[in-house]
Amino acid sequence: MKLFVTGGAGFIGSNFVRMALNGELPGLEDASITVFDALTYSGTLTNLTSVEDNPRFSFIQGDIRDGKALEAALPGHDAIVHFAAESHVDRSVSDAGIFVETNVLGTQKLLEAAKAHGISRFVHISTDEVYGSIDEGEWSEEEPLLPNSPYAASKAGSDLMVRAYHRTHGLDTVTTRCSNNYGTHHFPEKVIPLFVTNLLDGLPVPLYGDGGNQRDWLHVADHCRGIALVLQKGRSGEIYNIGGGTELSNRELTDLLLHATGRDESFVNYVDDRLGHDRRYCVDIGKISTELGYAPQVNFQDGLAAVVQWYQENRAWWEPLKARSTI
Ligand code: NAD
Repeated sequence: MKLFVTGGAGFIGSNFVRMALNGELPGLEDASITVFDALTYSGTLTNLTSVEDNPRFSFIQGDIRDGKALEAALPGHDAIVHFAAESHVDRSVSDAGIFVETNVLGTQKLLEAAKAHGISRFVHISTDEVYGSIDEGEWSEEEPLLPNSPYAASKAGSDLMVRAYHRTHGLDTVTTRCSNNYGTHHFPEKVIPLFVTNLLDGLPVPLYGDGGNQRDWLHVADHCRGIALVLQKGRSGEIYNIGGGTELSNRELTDLLLHATGRDESFVNYVDDRLGHDRRYCVDIGKISTELGYAPQVNFQDGLAAVVQWYQENRAWWEPLKARSTI
């Protein structure tokens, strides 16, 4: 199978590419992969150094908003796994325009190219944030889309565009909606890598509001295994939630990170809450579990300890990225 992976130089995309090429995703051991990535502030080729000499790997620097670039790069591939996006909620609060351009328009351009070139499967990576916020219980895939941030609204727009290309043009699409990912190679503006790298440097961590916002945490390797299942066995036109099963408030998460880095309460700096901050996300993963046999495998305590250790050992990876982050 020849896979066209957009956004494969970012956090989740590069984990997916490395796992696939290292034979860690069952069924994809022989897949060849073209990464198509614009290398925005959050994408870096250093995420792909370990696979750059693999004969099944190739890289094209290109923008999903550029139809001509897609026209040149896409023919000959069997399936698309679409990670490319503007992904940071805080950035969407200060400048929503690029989120609409990349996430909505870029996805539509990619769908159009997929239709034109007979792509046999289009896997769209979305987010649980499209559902909004839920005080208790869990969202099934049937819940209405009630996004609250410009980021979530742009992802919801892309989900609807994917649905429309399936319904109107018969494109074989599958959408995944995952909870918060954590893992290695995570750009140091997101909460876990930001807090870990600040704490390693002896800097305070900015905790939003009362710290009571709750998130479900999903190890990126579990997410990638879920995506591989959906790619190969998901039903056309369907949506699959993917979760990790570890729900924590941001305050609880902060305490774990303080402990893991040997820091204390004095490093916590409560800051004004994010505008429109969703209180809680929680996905029901019954559908992907029952239909495709998905189950998260990484224990959160072990996964988090390994991530903290990775950031301790890989300053050369994150220091230049943190220096280029303007948020
Ligand atoms: P990321 O910001 O680390 O990576 C995004 C990648 O997309 C980067 O390599 C960037 O260069 C590339 N990109 C951006 N604009 C592009 C364009 N116009 N054309 C081509 N490439 C472009 O993001 P991530 O955390 O790896 O997220 C990947 C996907 O997963 C996104 O669609 C995001 O919405 C979704 N998601 C992420 C999380 C999470 O916890 N990180 C949770 C839910 C959903």
